[in-house]
Amino acid sequence: MVLSKRFKYDGKPIISLNELQIRMKKQIEKKIKEGIYLFENVPCCVCGGENFELLSEKDRYGLYVPVVICKDCGLIYTNPRMTQDAFNQFYELEYRK
Ligand SMILES: [Zn+2]
Repeated sequence: MVLSKRFKYDGKPIISLNELQIRMKKQIEKKIKEGIYLFENVPCCVCGGENFELLSEKDRYGLYVPVVICKDCGLIYTNPRMTQDAFNQFYELEYRK
């Protein structure tokens, strides 16, 4: 369960987006939906633990970015996260826009 309902994934941005940002957001969401951008579950990179609790499901742009806290060591990290291939394409094509 997320920290509060404002952290629930609903696709809505927290900040106002310009036209280019809206276009890029839609492009990213389409790629996720079509399985072009894949996600993978990852253990905690500090302690290797796989006990975690979900804190948030979205970022300020309203994109799906699940953030968890490791229940063994307290590290807060993104999980599941995009695969390396997806990150490469995302940073190449959409991130700066
Ligand atoms: Zn940990």
